Amino acid sequence: MIERRDGNRPTCRFCGSAGPMGWGWRYSDRGTKHRWRCRACGRTFVEDDGFLGCRVDPEAICAALDQYFRGVSLSRVARHLRTCWGSGRRPGPS
Ligand SMILES: [Zn+2]
Repeated sequence: MIERRDGNRPTCRFCGSAGPMGWGWRYSDRGTKHRWRCRACGRTFVEDDGFLGCRVDPEAICAALDQYFRGVSLSRVARHLRTCWGSGRRPGPS
């Protein structure tokens, strides 16, 4: 039936064990997230906010979606993304 979660604790991203212990907080410009430490494998991780593993900056995704829903065509959104956000970090002038 429905899996009973231990409160709202996530499962370990690495080994899938349930019930990690709280391991402080991770601060970022996108807010504060709970950091967890797995009791089984000992690794720490933060909650999956849906953007985990995404190489694209979530802000870029939001900006693109915002444009898309305002009626901007996808090709223009894509071009805007490449122009303004690039793929990864731009090498600085040396
Ligand atoms: Zn684990």
